[in-house]
Amino acid sequence: MDNKQLYFLNKTSDILIKELDAYDLVKELKEVLLTYINLVDLNIYVFDPNTSTLRNYAQNWCVIDETMNDDIKEPIYNAYNDIHGNDFVINNKAFKLPQTISEISFKINSIYMPIVKNGMVFGIIELLFDDNTDIDMSSLFIMKIFGTQISLKLQNIVLNEQSQINVEFHDSMKNIAKIIETQYEINYIVPLIGEMLDRFISDHLIYVFLKQEDCFNLVWPKACNDERVFEILKQLDKDYPSMLAFDDKIGAFPLLSDEEITGCIVAKSMIEKLSKRDIDYLEQLTRQAAATINRANSYSTILQYATLDALTNLNNRRQFETRLGQEISITKRQGKPLCAMMIDIDFFKSVNDTYGHSAGDEVLRSVANIIKQALRESDIPARYGGEEFAVLLPFTHIDEAKIVGERLRKSIEDASITINQGLENEKLIKVTISMGLAEFNSVETGEALFDRADKALYCAKTNGRNQVRVSE
Ligand code: GH3
Ligand code: MG
Ligand code: MG
Repeated sequence: MDNKQLYFLNKTSDILIKELDAYDLVKELKEVLLTYINLVDLNIYVFDPNTSTLRNYAQNWCVIDETMNDDIKEPIYNAYNDIHGNDFVINNKAFKLPQTISEISFKINSIYMPIVKNGMVFGIIELLFDDNTDIDMSSLFIMKIFGTQISLKLQNIVLNEQSQINVEFHDSMKNIAKIIETQYEINYIVPLIGEMLDRFISDHLIYVFLKQEDCFNLVWPKACNDERVFEILKQLDKDYPSMLAFDDKIGAFPLLSDEEITGCIVAKSMIEKLSKRDIDYLEQLTRQAAATINRANSYSTILQYATLDALTNLNNRRQFETRLGQEISITKRQGKPLCAMMIDIDFFKSVNDTYGHSAGDEVLRSVANIIKQALRESDIPARYGGEEFAVLLPFTHIDEAKIVGERLRKSIEDASITINQGLENEKLIKVTISMGLAEFNSVETGEALFDRADKALYCAKTNGRNQVRVSE
């Protein structure tokens, strides 16, 4: 090898051990190749078995069919087909290097080299030249080394991407399974499942439908204005785990419970057909989602008779309504004061988004405990909804309620809440609450009383949160 060749291979190695994104990698390889031969362009195409197309590695993985004229892409596909078992396709002809380096030189306008893994070609490197550029035999040997180095690099990248997808997939599966440990409200679970699928299958739109009284109702996201999505729901068959429509760009995956269709997850691809891999993942995720939803459904039947909220051990909403009715009539009879308190955790969504939903649940439990500690025995706290709490304060005037409320607000502001307890990523975080208070006016209903507390809470939110507001 001469010095120029050594320099070139050495520089190539330097590039290949760097962490570069696809675009920069190809750009730098082209630059170093230019120090060795006078080429016009370098491209890397990887074969995608899901769509049977070649994709441009440096250009966001785009399918070359969509971006190129036939006369440009035809030689690429031909070269890809001809290169199996050969070292090159040179000027559109397959070529194998001889045993010895001779003095022969060639006039070339294109060279293709295979990208190989386990003896299988999975892509192709394209070198384009000005007409009749000269290249000698020893340079072809160098090009083969260059091509093999790129092959090894791409094997790693493609393998890594595949395993990254697998890791994300298993995370999604685990998360869906995990929600049920503490949650049983369908209205909370379904949007979460929708969000997770949406995040996992990023270039598809995901819709979740539940069947209610023989109708499919969209429960996530809020709207769908593609008629084709509704069309496919009519064709569902419980014996098939998926149904494809419209050029295989929309897939419907029925949610089953006891062999009955109880809902459906629909994935709509924004660009291409759903690949085999997407379908396989979506079928598995749908099965997991169905199991989670079914368990939530049977759980909620049992919980109709429960009085406590499973996550926080406070009164649940139903029990709270009962107690509210009782307290209102006592208050009316005895002419005693009564106050209502509505609490909502500030920016709670970002706690979930930053630390995950199970950390969010830990925060809910801690906040509930602080609320319990701040109250008297006779007060009646409840989990009112997701991250909202309601408290009834019997025998309490608004001035006292303000003191209790302010003290509670402050203890939550001061508290450090442990999340991921007992795990290696255990952490202390801070949250704040906003609060609305209202005193019973002796004629209104319980509902009206809490409506006023809720309006005061809204005021606290719009005025900057972490504060207590009183209804006039
Ligand atoms: P704001 O200050 O305006 O109240 O902001 P926010 O983010 O708290 O408001 P928003 O009402 O938009 O979000 C409430 C979030 O609470 C959305 C939902 O994901 C989350 N949430 C509701 N119930 C639960 C639950 O049981 N567990 C967990 N981890 N999160 C819940
Ligand atoms: Mg809220
Ligand atoms: Mg909130």
